[in-house]
Amino acid sequence: MNIKILEKSDTKMRFILEKANPAFANALRRVAKNEVPTMAIEYVDFEENTSGMFDELVAHRLGLVPLTFDTAVYNLKSECKCGGKGCSRCEVTLVLEKQGPCVVKSGDMKSTDNSVQPADKDIPIIELLENQRMKFEAVAQLGLGTEHIKWQASNVGYQYVPTVKVNAEKADPKIADICPAHVFEKKDDRVKVVAEDKCILCMRCVEVSEGVSVSADDTSFIFNIESVSGLTVKEILNKSLDILEERSQELAESVKKSVK
Ligand SMILES: [Zn+2]
Repeated sequence: MNIKILEKSDTKMRFILEKANPAFANALRRVAKNEVPTMAIEYVDFEENTSGMFDELVAHRLGLVPLTFDTAVYNLKSECKCGGKGCSRCEVTLVLEKQGPCVVKSGDMKSTDNSVQPADKDIPIIELLENQRMKFEAVAQLGLGTEHIKWQASNVGYQYVPTVKVNAEKADPKIADICPAHVFEKKDDRVKVVAEDKCILCMRCVEVSEGVSVSADDTSFIFNIESVSGLTVKEILNKSLDILEERSQELAESVKKSVK
């Protein structure tokens, strides 16, 4: 198996996974989405809240703010040496104190650890009117998307790599207008393929015209992955592959023990 990068930034990546199979592609998708630990607020202790919104609603919004963190420092509470009681390796405190009129934003929270910060500082939390006050202490911890959506690491989708062939003599030029992915280009009443990799396999062109064939390769996958957490896409992919490797090793050891 290998990958070919098509587009890449810190938060988004598009790549082709080659020489794989649907089972592996789906395993990678599920792990990258929901099983990579990410940081989110779990408890909020309100000292003051005279805003128009209940504590619970504000706490819910705070939970959904993606937080960055140092992957080498923090552990899941269930795997931490403190036994889940809470220590500097599994918990971090963020505090906020604001008085209206203002809009409280994610970036207004002060973290006790520099590595733990809102991934986006401009997420609006609540609007405080004249003299309304908000003061709280929040505790963030690592968690998994399988427990709660606030810990989801990324959005991931994939499709088979398409092969699109056109017989210019037979193909109806209107497929260039029908195709929602703009795979074809029309010129002098003839049509040609200009962006094969953009094809979403909807088959609309095949339905309306002769001389077009679309097929899919089930050993190559175009992946789209977008981080929705404080991790970069590279960190998410690396961690996903580590998790898959760990599980395979666990299984291999279990097989060695039980099948003699
Ligand atoms: Zn701990």
